[in-house]
Amino acid sequence: MSNSSGASSGTSNVQQRRRVVGVPKTCWCGASIVALISKSAANPYRSYYRCGYAASLKLIDDNHNFKWVDEALLDEIERLAVRMAVLEQTVSQITTESMDHQKIVFERMQMKLEKEIFERVV
Ligand SMILES: [Zn+2]
Repeated sequence: MSNSSGASSGTSNVQQRRRVVGVPKTCWCGASIVALISKSAANPYRSYYRCGYAASLKLIDDNHNFKWVDEALLDEIERLAVRMAVLEQTVSQITTESMDHQKIVFERMQMKLEKEIFERVV
């Protein structure tokens, strides 16, 4: 049984690229993120965020941070949209509650006033 495993020469950790939501601030390695412009034929002039360390060494197929700027900004917009929806719901709740309260106060004042007017007239 001589089974030499020559196929597993390298560890396949490349696919463990972490998915960062929104605009990345720092890479997992601690390096700051830089904004670069793609020169590839597939994505000419497309902006991307990249780990500053990996960019300085011109690493390829590594697991350092890489993200297209447009996709990152889309993430940010989606995140803001969710927060806006929550905020709008909260505001409308508060407004409804305070309006209900004001309505009660107003109705009491109106009743009191009507009573006073009635007492004066009669
Ligand atoms: Zn990195």
